[in-house]
Amino acid sequence: MNINAFIRENIKKLKPYSTARDEFQGIAEVYLDANENPFPSAYNRYPDPLQKKLKQRISELKGIAPEKIFLGNGSDEPVDLVIRAFCEPGQDSILITEPTYGMYAVCAGINNVAVKRVPLTHDFNINIDAIKQAVNQSVKVIFLCSPNNPSGNLLSKEKITQLITDFNGIVVIDEAYIDFADDEGFLPTLNNYSNLIILQTFSKAWGLAGLRLGMAFASEAIISVLNKIKYPYNINILTQQAALEKLSTVEIKNKQVGAILQQRTNLIQLLQAMPNVQKVYPTDANFVLVKIADAKNTYNQLIKRGIIVRDRSAIELCENCLRITVGTPEENKKLIETLNTL
Ligand SMILES: *Cc1c(COP(=O)(O)O)cnc(C)c1O
Repeated sequence: MNINAFIRENIKKLKPYSTARDEFQGIAEVYLDANENPFPSAYNRYPDPLQKKLKQRISELKGIAPEKIFLGNGSDEPVDLVIRAFCEPGQDSILITEPTYGMYAVCAGINNVAVKRVPLTHDFNINIDAIKQAVNQSVKVIFLCSPNNPSGNLLSKEKITQLITDFNGIVVIDEAYIDFADDEGFLPTLNNYSNLIILQTFSKAWGLAGLRLGMAFASEAIISVLNKIKYPYNINILTQQAALEKLSTVEIKNKQVGAILQQRTNLIQLLQAMPNVQKVYPTDANFVLVKIADAKNTYNQLIKRGIIVRDRSAIELCENCLRITVGTPEENKKLIETLNTL
């Protein structure tokens, strides 16, 4: 697929801002090109605008070439940039499969890009026929979330593949929770598809939500467009350093993911045993969606006792559902004990 044909005209024509660090890339003794304060401190210099060291490390870990990696201020940044790169405001649209993560529609709304909403099936999977019916010339990007938030399940791999292959536009797969799934996701297939964008994040399994660091993986043509329109120094020095440090201790992340998965199994069993719980939906993420009698009241009672879960009961297909993040063993124990007293 020729990605150029999908990029907005004004973005294609745009001459991007060129930073001092873009124009000189070597190592020098004296830097008098960026109007920085010359007195040394940890942060007096601008960060690397393309985060080369960090991308190199991520490249080794993920087996994806650095040129196919974009780093953003959370994965929310690439969500916004993808819409801005490919959707003409007031004219084009994105397609989302509901219920799903709220940011796709919000970013589209901010950019005055319409949203086509296609419900997932009752077991929260992709409805290919409904998507095909909803797609028209205006739809430039399809957003899929797998494992899906708030339902927790992986979407069907075959159906996703069918969409990537058949859709004449960009397909984004948000894999924010892929580390918790017993599946490698779509990264190993990235090189087969020029129209595929995979989003991952340091906010969940890596335990770095406060840093704000998200990843997008895609063909070089797509990554170049995102680099062209991002803020020049979008990832600050502290974030780049802290992420590099974290990446040197992958085993800690893996251990924590293992512990969370164990707790997830435990939590599901205990929830299923409760008389008020009508259904615990299958999950491939670090949270569970639970259908419970009088969810709203349960939610409020939990708040009164200092426990906050996410009330998803107003969302289509999630009637009377609470979304509960898997916590530490102590936190989960407190949750279960409290639910048993209600
Ligand atoms: C939490 C979450 C993210 C993470 O967003 P960041 O901006 O990287 O923190 C992305 N997608 C989904 C579906 C999420 O639930």
